[in-house]
Amino acid sequence: MTRIFSGVKPTGHLTLGNYLGAIRQWADVDQHRADALFCVVDLHALTVEHDPGRVRRLSRQAATLLLASGLDPERCTVFVQSHVDEHARLSYLLECVASDGEMRRMIQYKEKSAVEQARGGSVRLSLLTYPVLMAADILAYGAGEVPVGDDQTQHVELTRDLAVRFNQRYGHTFAVPRATRPEVAARVMDLQDPASKMGKSHESGAGIIYLLDEPDVVRKKIMRAVTDSGSEVGYDRAARPGVSNLLEILAACEGGDPEGLSGAYASYGALKKDVADAVVELLRPVRERHQALVADSAYVGDVLRSGAERARGMARPTVDAAYRAMGL
Ligand code: ADP
Repeated sequence: MTRIFSGVKPTGHLTLGNYLGAIRQWADVDQHRADALFCVVDLHALTVEHDPGRVRRLSRQAATLLLASGLDPERCTVFVQSHVDEHARLSYLLECVASDGEMRRMIQYKEKSAVEQARGGSVRLSLLTYPVLMAADILAYGAGEVPVGDDQTQHVELTRDLAVRFNQRYGHTFAVPRATRPEVAARVMDLQDPASKMGKSHESGAGIIYLLDEPDVVRKKIMRAVTDSGSEVGYDRAARPGVSNLLEILAACEGGDPEGLSGAYASYGALKKDVADAVVELLRPVRERHQALVADSAYVGDVLRSGAERARGMARPTVDAAYRAMGL
């Protein structure tokens, strides 16, 4: 059975982008067809300035939301990265295989280090090496597939390169994974700034739908979404990013294709109202299950403990083999 690995970073509250670009697919499809691991990658949250208490709270919230979104601990492994030491152990070995140059070519590093510098902060070394830790996350489990949104495909390419290079130098140790992507809404854009993706770490939440937003907040954000000065609803990602983003969100919620849906609307107002209704309905069960799980935190704790134990059992033989292969 194919093994798949994917994760979310607890750097902010989870968004509609995380849900439509990743989590929904994990719950509806991936956990049923494969031996799947889903991880809250909290070590990655330390690569930028953070508040320790907030990271801890967000990790727990993200794990709870994964369960609320339908990940079933009987079918897949849900765990928190820092509970399994193998990630950090393997990351160091892979740092000895990766080169400084290939790290500096990563688009996310360029973008995120520029943001840190603009804030006047120093760029942490871990921000540069973060894709190596991500490679360790994937390779430790021998994952064959990594379902991710477009923004992560470069990191999966790097993971493949590192696996191949390690295997050539030290003998076959790692399976070489490939990225897979969901078909619709692979990239949900910010409602206020449709040129950039809806990302949970953005400063302002006005263009971001959080999974735990109250329904009236969701409606308000969608009704205020930036469109353009045209009057007819039409789908064109490049020329009309705002309205196209809304059409894609609607298509992702209800099925159908964004271009086809555009013909049904005479005004932006009518489109926005339908998008708001669709998103509120989509998120309703997730919010309700989240509430129930928060009230049963012992259950969530048990799930995460047994998830980490199972994950450790899978990762340890591979990481131990990598140690031996490298001469340790
Ligand atoms: P974020 O950018 O929100 O910090 P993560 O690194 O936690 O995202 O990614 C979790 C998953 O969600 C990844 O598979 C990522 O590709 C996906 N994802 C994040 N933002 C979006 C978005 N706006 N549209 C589609 N998918 C997204």
